[in-house]
Amino acid sequence: MHVIAHGGAGSVPDEPAKRQRTLATAVEEATRSDDPLEAACAAVRALEDDPRFNAGIGSVAQSDGTIRTDAGLMVDDGTTGGGTVGAACGMPGVANAVDVARVVATETPHVMVAGEPAVDLAAAFDVETDVDLWTDRTRERWDAADPPSGGLDETLPWVREQFGRGSDTVGAVATDGESLVAATSTGGRWFALAGRVGDVPQVGAGFYADDRGGASATGAGEAIARFGLARRAVDELERRSSHQAAEEVIEAFADATGERAGLVVVDHDGHAGSATNAASMQTAERP
Ligand code: ASP
Repeated sequence: MHVIAHGGAGSVPDEPAKRQRTLATAVEEATRSDDPLEAACAAVRALEDDPRFNAGIGSVAQSDGTIRTDAGLMVDDGTTGGGTVGAACGMPGVANAVDVARVVATETPHVMVAGEPAVDLAAAFDVETDVDLWTDRTRERWDAADPPSGGLDETLPWVREQFGRGSDTVGAVATDGESLVAATSTGGRWFALAGRVGDVPQVGAGFYADDRGGASATGAGEAIARFGLARRAVDELERRSSHQAAEEVIEAFADATGERAGLVVVDHDGHAGSATNAASMQTAERP
């Protein structure tokens, strides 16, 4: 099993060594599985459970002071543009959003389920709900942002002023040389309007996989969604190595949007590449 994981593109993080250890452990444990779907989910789950990353516990809060998680994954089915997709978004109290995305992929005929019904679906398939996703660090940051208490006329200017400061989505791509799975999970970006959903659960934006390879993206979610970053990286694999594909698509993204992003890309032979135009993006890879 070959696995590469990332811990989000953004500013240089606090405690990079501890984060790097979690990334290393996540991919190490993931390679013990002989199922790429379980391997990708195991890597992402380990990162969701570490409060240093913006996914699961430690995620960022939206304008109403609620933390909502999003995740998406795709399993290639040996065709170009086919594959099984599952995504879940806008879920309060769900740490392992990737497991809900997996339930959507394997147990429903849909590609995405949102909000409270997604939380109910999680509970029905034994994914833990009612988890306290706040940490001391996120509580301090929220309190310092002078959050709005009024209606939309007060909230929207606050969102326009504050939105997008800080992120750190997580993701992984796993392949056993036969099947390939890409998965991404996040709490979104700080101080988004309540109910905002970014690129992460949108197929082709935050994640993508088919018979050419797979990608997991991170960064400015609205721009990533408009650009279709993960799908475009996999399209590039027809012309380039995974590393060159990652570099090429990040350069094109930066030119087109002026925003920051990062991604990991894996071809079907398990060759991995990564690139970012942000200050930092930590990754780990096994073997
Ligand atoms: N892409 C994520 C979002 O916009 C944030 C991140 O990657 O850190 O929701």
